[in-house]
Amino acid sequence: MTKTALAIHGGCGVMAKLDLSEAEWAAARVDLLRALKAGWAILSNGGSALDAVQACVVVMEDSPHFNAGYGAALNANGEHELDASIMDGATLEAGAVTLVRRIRNPVKAARRVMEKGDAVLMGGTSADEFAKAEGLDVVEPDYFTTERRVKALASMKAHAAAGTAAKASESEKHGTVGAVALDEAGHLAAATSTGGYNNKPAGRIGDTPIIGAGTYARDGLCAVSGTGKGEFFIRYAVGHEIASRIGYLGETVQQAADKVIMEDLKPHAIGAGLVAVGADGSIAAPYNTDGMFRGWVTPEGEFFVGTHGDVHACDPSSAP
Ligand code: ASP
Repeated sequence: MTKTALAIHGGCGVMAKLDLSEAEWAAARVDLLRALKAGWAILSNGGSALDAVQACVVVMEDSPHFNAGYGAALNANGEHELDASIMDGATLEAGAVTLVRRIRNPVKAARRVMEKGDAVLMGGTSADEFAKAEGLDVVEPDYFTTERRVKALASMKAHAAAGTAAKASESEKHGTVGAVALDEAGHLAAATSTGGYNNKPAGRIGDTPIIGAGTYARDGLCAVSGTGKGEFFIRYAVGHEIASRIGYLGETVQQAADKVIMEDLKPHAIGAGLVAVGADGSIAAPYNTDGMFRGWVTPEGEFFVGTHGDVHACDPSSAP
């Protein structure tokens, strides 16, 4: 029996500390803790890493505080086009959906794609129809819209009109949710879900549904879920790059993750972060922005949650 471990992120595009009230920060931290609890309940009862990462992501998709599912970003047409993926490190099986508009929990649809076993990535209306046929919850597209995202879209459009889009805050731009886990059987899994970035072109697909970029898991190496400007995660094949560095160079999870986030991606001046867990249960959560919604449970069962530089030990019973 190996150690178990779990880590999540709720996107690296966190707001400046003063942009949210203390009550809003607290509510986001509670939802991070709820997500960790959902995953840990599975892992600590001998469940699979795959079920654990899905459970974490579902909680964050249902929370308005993160850019995935309910509360997702709006594209340039004021519509939601959601992406999600999941990967089983034991078998290298993976599933993903992209440009979906009606699936309440896109990560569940990604899991169904994986379990069907033929396609890895399904997109658009056909993926919405697939999810419906599979019996998943479908919703009207405006279910996902929150006032915060409407404001963020207006702000990004104003930046675009003024030619200052690059100066927009990370929180106006993007966000994502993700989870990585190691289970008792020594298997790794990763899952990621996003609305992409505010004011993205209609039809744009980011790194989240691209296996090897925003999501990757391979037993014996690591599981990775990323957040940040997806185009760069695709170009650097971030998830696979980290696994390769561990496998070929013998780097630790922390070394490999830091190299990619701080040395490869940072010079591009794009916000980026990730969570990764290694085959030994070690956890890394680097980011190159002001903060990243994140949390983890150590192999000893200690819960930690953070938004900016500080990470707090949490009592899991403090979240409903
Ligand atoms: N990676 C996501 C995307 O590019 C966005 C983000 O995480 O900020 O779609």
